Amino acid sequence: MYQFVDDLNEHQRAAVTASPNGVVLVLAGPGTGKTKVITARVAYLLLHHKLPPQDVVVATFTKKAANEMVERLAVLLQPYPEIDAKKLLIGTFHSICVRILRKYGGLVGLNAGFKIADETDAKQLIKRALRAMAQSGFDVSLKDSDVKKYRAYISACKNKAQLPDQVPVSKKAGDLSTKLEVYTLYQEELARNNVIDFDDCLLLVHKLLAHHPSCMGRVKHVLVDEFQDTNKVQLELVYQLSGYNENYKHNVTAVGDPDQSIYAFRNAEAENFYRMEDYYRDKGVAVLKVALTQNYRSTSNILTLAEHLMNQQFARREQKYLHAHKKDDIPVQVFACATNKAEASKIAATIKQAVKPNGTQYSDIAILLRSGFLSRVIEQELIHANLPYQVVHGRSFWERREIRLVMDYLRAVASDMDWLGYSRCLDFQVSGLGAKSLLLIEEQFSAQRARSQPGNVYVILENIARDGMKGITAKARAGIGEFVALIKKARELLLSDADEQEQLEKMFDHIVQHSRVVSVVNEERMDKKGDSQEEIEATLNELKNQLIGFNLQEEDLLQDAYAEEDELEVAEQSFDLTASTSLEKLTQFLDSVYLYEETKGAEKTVSKVTITTVHGSKGLEWPIVFVPSLCEGIFPSQHATSDVGDTAKNEAALDEERRCMYVAVTRAKERLYLSYFRETLGFGFGDPIKRKSRFLNLPKGLVQVAETGVASTPNLLSSFQQNMKLNMGPLALGSGFQTASRLTGVSRLPDGAVKISKPRKKRLGMGRPLRLTKK
Ligand code: ATP
Ligand code: MG
Repeated sequence: MYQFVDDLNEHQRAAVTASPNGVVLVLAGPGTGKTKVITARVAYLLLHHKLPPQDVVVATFTKKAANEMVERLAVLLQPYPEIDAKKLLIGTFHSICVRILRKYGGLVGLNAGFKIADETDAKQLIKRALRAMAQSGFDVSLKDSDVKKYRAYISACKNKAQLPDQVPVSKKAGDLSTKLEVYTLYQEELARNNVIDFDDCLLLVHKLLAHHPSCMGRVKHVLVDEFQDTNKVQLELVYQLSGYNENYKHNVTAVGDPDQSIYAFRNAEAENFYRMEDYYRDKGVAVLKVALTQNYRSTSNILTLAEHLMNQQFARREQKYLHAHKKDDIPVQVFACATNKAEASKIAATIKQAVKPNGTQYSDIAILLRSGFLSRVIEQELIHANLPYQVVHGRSFWERREIRLVMDYLRAVASDMDWLGYSRCLDFQVSGLGAKSLLLIEEQFSAQRARSQPGNVYVILENIARDGMKGITAKARAGIGEFVALIKKARELLLSDADEQEQLEKMFDHIVQHSRVVSVVNEERMDKKGDSQEEIEATLNELKNQLIGFNLQEEDLLQDAYAEEDELEVAEQSFDLTASTSLEKLTQFLDSVYLYEETKGAEKTVSKVTITTVHGSKGLEWPIVFVPSLCEGIFPSQHATSDVGDTAKNEAALDEERRCMYVAVTRAKERLYLSYFRETLGFGFGDPIKRKSRFLNLPKGLVQVAETGVASTPNLLSSFQQNMKLNMGPLALGSGFQTASRLTGVSRLPDGAVKISKPRKKRLGMGRPLRLTKK
């Protein structure tokens, strides 16, 4: 038949060659070839069943996974040049939906050129809704914690496919009626600002397909990887997308593993998998279930450890019996480290030892972190050891202040209509422009929009700078002039004759140099324990690399495939978006960032160690994997370890952390290194004592443990100073703290650790116990 089908095992083959009519569900553990099955099935559908690629929808978990799948398909389909895998409608659910909305959004009331609101936008708009409500007599607070609460409520509704008018009537009483009012006003704010939020991407397509199912009537098969991480809207979207075409009704292939469900915080429901079967069966659709038990990725030691972890789940779970295909077995290593710095240097040393000219490459190695902020110390040690690495950034990177600010400028450059982006830039950049003046400008924008939609902020600002405006001081007017000039120049650079990379680079540098972002953020952080100017610059440099290295989607494929349907009106801009690919790239980059699609910089040619969050490692594999910082409060993270007074909630949170750990360890093919530390050193948060994670309570014989990191006095001192600083602020670092031993109430233990007496601690104002271990 086909080579790629012959290469599969019997069960995989059954799934791949199953009738394309009806539903195929593959529920199986990590490394059993689920993604391989999806890829092969796509190829099989195109080749054997002759489905046109543009009629096949493939939902992957990350943009990177989509790219990889297209690359793999290109190899499989090489003997068949007539089939172009690039035409598949493939990507994350969110990006597929945005593409559909860019085409048909008009049918659900969207304006052309709509933008995706990020979390900052969303919270800003909720605040506005609350302010309006407070003015009309509602008893609401604008506290951050309340804004967060409303944000979570709205998101949960949206993930259940409920717009304000669809929230069940019984839930509209009391406190909920307030929530619902916030939700309603928030939706109005979104519309007014021509933005949609993260959840809307899905919800609006859901609505679109409910009313205009023929839009996507060409779809002949829908395939979904990592199905355990879908929510209710996604479950229904799959049903809708596959539901219109009479001859191909509900042809769906979904694969996943409930044990790897780690997106409950985005309202994913692992039960979807079990639900899916009934969902389709009840509607008379045939469902074929396939189980896979052969694991092709990891050694049996790694699998035993993974299975042991999962057996501790509080929730009921079916035991898995995965057979390791690999025989060569090296024990899992655990490093017990004195400090996080010692941990980082141990990792660096281990990497150095492992990499060989004709053997293990840097790109065979990954360091998987529970949260992005943990990378700082590890990066420092890798730099120190001269080891090449790349960081695949998680959410925390994109939420840094300097990134957010520069992103706002980029948004202003990319669109004339982005009031939210513009307003934050103005607020940041133009001195003498108060909230009142900002409101005046916004009113102009709204008025313009009421007349001819959509409004154009850039032109309004240009006019103010030229002619002035009532209510805007001369100083503010001059500031606005400078700001307009900045944006204008940035656009010129973007549209210049230089090559694409240079255009983007120069535009970016211009913004950084003329916006004061670096100096202001630096100043803001002076009094807090924060980043130095170099670090802020390095972060922005990283943002620049991400932008330059971003892969442009060459053409709008949907446009080709569905050309006959109504199109969105094209927005009036003061510049021509089609004039340069770098501008198009900037626009797509912004969308991608706000969809939280893990992005990765350029430079694919050099082999590098990957540092990423566990969430970003979904579906991937490396021969060597490090999972560091396995400390209580880090992994499992603090929100799961602190008692919330509700056993069920605590257990659910811990289960999610455990599944996260399960995902992490099952990324490893040959070698797995787990580690923890007892002390933090030069760390972003102030709790000096860390306990070994409960995930490291493993039966003897399953792992090899090695102690590491014996400190010299300077390190001890610096650790001490760090802790002092963390606990007391910079004032504590006076000359009296020259050496730890000189302090009264501070003594050295036989093992070299430093102990501080209770009275001393009290005097130092330290509530928490402090123990400084000798490294
Ligand atoms: P995860 O749950 O982590 O996403 P998965 O089930 O999707 O894992 P894949 O990534 O598809 O697993 O496959 C894991 C590894 O096993 C890959 O390197 C893949 O090439 C290999 N593999 C899968 N099936 C086979 C097979 N039949 N023969 C040889 N190698 C295979
Ligand atoms: Mg997979």
